[in-house]
Amino acid sequence: MPPAHTSVKTVTSSVTSSVVHQSEGSVKLVNRVRSSTSESEVKQSESEQIPLIDQTFPTIIVWRNVALFIYLHIASIYGAYLLLSGSLMWQTIIAGFVFYLMGGLGITAGCHRLWAHKSYKAKLPLRLILTLCQTIAVQNSIHEWSRDHRVHHKYSETNADPHNAKRGFFFAHMGWLCCKKHPAIKEKGAGIDMSDLEADPIIMFQKKYYIPLAIFCSVILPTFIPMFFWGESFLAGYFFVAQFRFCMTLHFTWFVNSAAHLWGQHPYDKNINPAENKFVAVVALGEGWHNYHHTFPWDYKTAELGHYQYNYTKFFVDTMAKIGWAYDLKTVPKNIVMQRVQRTGDGTHPSHHNHIEGGPWGWGDKDIPCKDAALTETLYSLEEDHLIDSASKQG
Ligand code: ZN
Ligand code: ZN
Repeated sequence: MPPAHTSVKTVTSSVTSSVVHQSEGSVKLVNRVRSSTSESEVKQSESEQIPLIDQTFPTIIVWRNVALFIYLHIASIYGAYLLLSGSLMWQTIIAGFVFYLMGGLGITAGCHRLWAHKSYKAKLPLRLILTLCQTIAVQNSIHEWSRDHRVHHKYSETNADPHNAKRGFFFAHMGWLCCKKHPAIKEKGAGIDMSDLEADPIIMFQKKYYIPLAIFCSVILPTFIPMFFWGESFLAGYFFVAQFRFCMTLHFTWFVNSAAHLWGQHPYDKNINPAENKFVAVVALGEGWHNYHHTFPWDYKTAELGHYQYNYTKFFVDTMAKIGWAYDLKTVPKNIVMQRVQRTGDGTHPSHHNHIEGGPWGWGDKDIPCKDAALTETLYSLEEDHLIDSASKQG
């Protein structure tokens, strides 16, 4: 059972002690909890019940999910064995890759950039294709995935974040799917505006028939297409294209929540955990530039530069825009990005490397930043020297 907080004081003190380790966003949350305590007694007791940043909520394991994941991983190891032992037809290997790409893009270009963040708009044919692709990935319905993701951004690294990285790598990676959700997720999730997605009949249809659709797209299609089109065995289709491919897509997506929230640089905002992680960018089709993404989540590139080799999803969205199926692509202008880099970056942005090597040699070097020069104090200055100095500056 979750420990019951008996007084507001207890909550406030636990919150205060954690502030030092939290990001700007979390501090705002703390303030929100505080202001609600002064606003009304009802809100006060809600904040008491579901603290956002304590560490005391016990982990309640959902054994059904654990059993499913154990089965999936054993089946995937057999799928990998079929691949490594040369038991697969070449068409089957390509089919595995195509299903991986489709599922991946369904998550990155569809669920993530289109539906969760609204960073661009898509016409009907593209929305239908992305819905099919998203269903192949089996990562919950578009509606549920997007709500979880909006909560993840809004309450990042708190109890209301479904894969709160403060609970460690394994929890952020897949542990969160093996245990009961923290009540704060449900509470904050209910406050997230989902009206845009709820107005879309395709999304609501997929939500309503999600389980049969997911079984059809992720198990039946990848198992039987290789059998009927090029005479592959049932075992190869099922264990490689369905199970192994599914397991890989899951782990590559999960790395965004685990590795990219724990390891990497913070050139845009050093106050948040999400980081720039090239490995994750490659395996997750361009979603590893996570410090940029959490700083500017409405940018369709989810990265500042978005070179195609590290951002296949950008290539996909750009291509769709060229044929007219994607439009209204949102992106952040360079000067706004640079202002943010200067204000909150950790100094690892490439623009810093173009700067002088080392530092200025001393007073009078043109490389002393103007602001630093203006604020530098001169002690015991002689009046005549001061006049000469001012005159030479004016000259
Ligand atoms: Zn996101
Ligand atoms: Zn994130």
